[in-house]
Amino acid sequence: LALDPVVSVPATLNAEVPLVTGETVEYANLDHAASAPCLGAARQAVDEFLPWYASVHRGAGFASQVSTKVYERTRDVLRRFVDARRGDSVVFTRNTTDALNLLARGVPRHTSVVLFDTEHHAALLPWRGPDVRRIPTPRTRFAAVSAVEEALAGCPEGPRLVVLTGASNVTGELLPVAEIAAVARRHGARVALDAAQLAPHRAISLRELDVDYVALSGHKLYAPFGAGALIGRSDWLRAAPPYLAGGGATKLVTSREVVWNTGPERHEAGSPNTVGVHALGVACEQLAANWGPVVAHEEDLLARLRRGLAAVPGLSELRLFDDEGDRVGTIGFTIDGYEAGWLAAVLSAEYGIGVRDGAFCAHIATRRLAHGQQALRASLGLGTTVAHVDRLVLALRQVLARGARWTYGKPDGRWAP
Ligand code: PMP
Repeated sequence: LALDPVVSVPATLNAEVPLVTGETVEYANLDHAASAPCLGAARQAVDEFLPWYASVHRGAGFASQVSTKVYERTRDVLRRFVDARRGDSVVFTRNTTDALNLLARGVPRHTSVVLFDTEHHAALLPWRGPDVRRIPTPRTRFAAVSAVEEALAGCPEGPRLVVLTGASNVTGELLPVAEIAAVARRHGARVALDAAQLAPHRAISLRELDVDYVALSGHKLYAPFGAGALIGRSDWLRAAPPYLAGGGATKLVTSREVVWNTGPERHEAGSPNTVGVHALGVACEQLAANWGPVVAHEEDLLARLRRGLAAVPGLSELRLFDDEGDRVGTIGFTIDGYEAGWLAAVLSAEYGIGVRDGAFCAHIATRRLAHGQQALRASLGLGTTVAHVDRLVLALRQVLARGARWTYGKPDGRWAP
């Protein structure tokens, strides 16, 4: 069993897809922000592991030992991947949504939660009750930091948590995480980072950012679906009721009492997704060993894409902030007079290009930035090539050059709030 990672970025799968004309073309996957194709090393790791997976922590058999080793090893991989502090927990979850819901269940009672209203629903919705303050996202990063400070200053005494995305899934813009974390610290608040979009594109250091929790998804990190993690401070998690009740989460069960585990297993009842966890770990190791080329690859392509899109008539890029700042290779946009769903369908059927359309599970953000319309989103990753970017720009120009303006389903491309 090869557990040592290969330190290189292997080519991702670039399959042929059919067009309406009956021809086939290499798929231009410009939807990495939704899910990224599996890295070669992660596929290989899964392949090698498949004959050996078994339940973890539960058997003396060889397969069970291998699985337990792979599973526990991945906690260390993830700890290193986000530069966690000593003593931080790594709880395996299904994805970021699951990780943030776990945290929401795990915070002490009456924790004041502060967050921007433009967050992805996974970060926006798990928090309930009167102690949640949703701040309208200001138009500059500087004002965003002040807005968090003001909200925290108005919170009652007691535990406080700021929930924040690292990179917007609608616009690709990076949030001023370290600055907000510094403000949070001054006001005795913890910070939870939704890193679903940041983790595949930038090295994250919990220590440097001074962030308390990070949530991420394997399927956005070039591993298959089904494994994610919540990494961060263990005290609240140790004290919280188990996220799921069942086997593996307990130390002892008698007819009178249940003694729950206090480590990460407390929240991992049931047979875990050992295969997914292994793939996630291997993909993270690959990224961690290649940040330089990964970031350079995406920055070059992003600059090319932005230049190309800027020349498409009527195209407006969605932006949370008016100030220019660092961003990952994700661009949300609308095109005047064209319905996003229709354009996405044409790009797929006629050009073999996969983009996302809609409101990206961030309805408040998209509605605000796209002025009530649905939007398109092109997102780059390790599988993206110059040819994919150029194909999208050319396709949009050609479709617009036809001159006709279509709507798709809904009369004027608007959608009900
Ligand atoms: N947060 C952000 C910023 C996202 O982009 C996504 C996925 N679109 C999520 C959270 C949720 O991730 P998952 O669906 O893997 O739980």
